[in-house]
Amino acid sequence: MEKRKPIKIKLISATTHSELFSGENGTAMFLNEFKRLLFKCPGCGEVASIPISMEGSGKDWKWDGNKESPTLNPSIHSVGCCGWHGWLRGGIFSE
Ligand SMILES: [Zn+2]
Repeated sequence: MEKRKPIKIKLISATTHSELFSGENGTAMFLNEFKRLLFKCPGCGEVASIPISMEGSGKDWKWDGNKESPTLNPSIHSVGCCGWHGWLRGGIFSE
């Protein structure tokens, strides 16, 4: 499958929910005091939400604590929509 272009994350504030839904792919916001990341799938724009923590419990994604250019581990697989599978590293979604 052809790889899509990397997309820079566009973080918005948690008070502007509607902006997320109208935003472009890669628009994202932290929720629940940085326990969750809501983002628009880099592949198709579907809104997805994943649990995160700085410890990385194994049931969530380990977040490096960077609020502007976050890195998450492990990779993200958008199973509920287009199947995009890639990484968020240094604020860039890339396959
Ligand atoms: Zn998708």
